[in-house]
Amino acid sequence: MNNLYLTDAYRREMDTLVEEVRTVKKKTAVSLVDNIFYPGGGGQPPDSGSILLPSGETVPVCRVLKLDGKVFACLASAAEVCVNDNVRTILDWEKRYATMRYHTGAHVLMGAIRRSVDGYVPEGIAIADDVLSCTVRFSGQWQPSDTAIREIEERANQQIQRCLKVEVLTYESLSQAIDQHESIYRGPSSFSGPVRVIVINEWDANPCGGTHVRSTEEVGQIRLTDFGEDHIVMQFAPSNSP
Ligand SMILES: [Zn+2]
Repeated sequence: MNNLYLTDAYRREMDTLVEEVRTVKKKTAVSLVDNIFYPGGGGQPPDSGSILLPSGETVPVCRVLKLDGKVFACLASAAEVCVNDNVRTILDWEKRYATMRYHTGAHVLMGAIRRSVDGYVPEGIAIADDVLSCTVRFSGQWQPSDTAIREIEERANQQIQRCLKVEVLTYESLSQAIDQHESIYRGPSSFSGPVRVIVINEWDANPCGGTHVRSTEEVGQIRLTDFGEDHIVMQFAPSNSP
């Protein structure tokens, strides 16, 4: 299985072959040789979409999940599908692109929080299933206030306006990644094996397995709509909503 969402997050459709067929919670589930469906994880919800079968029938995908290390797409209705069938897989692009924008926006925002909150430690993000907001969690010493939150918002939006390049880089080890991006690195200090790092030019470097846009320009302006001692909620600015 080749998980294309890791290398080409912009791929919306893919003609491919069925690699395996299973039954998952009474639904037919297929894994694909070339897979564009993100299974969820790292605070990013799973993709939605559909599959065009050899019969000509298009079946919605009701769930995408990982089983035994492989991604499976569950079909919403009963359908005949066999190993080696040629199928066309189609993403719900509106949902995926919104998650890519939120996910990248969260990296920019966490870079801003790191610079504003003493003792900042990231605790993860959660993009809402309806893709209308993203909550960023962290610990650290700060006094949540309207003034503090506007300062962080402005800091993040300034970087977004700079149209910074967003790169996906792979390093053989985490120590290599940290050496390369020491001044902007944000994340764990130990990890075994190769590591995928999202690098936002001169602003933030963070290990991540999700999907992202190519430039902060695509994120657009954000607004911070709620906050507390351990979290901040981000939404797209009204002029910037999909
Ligand atoms: Zn990410």
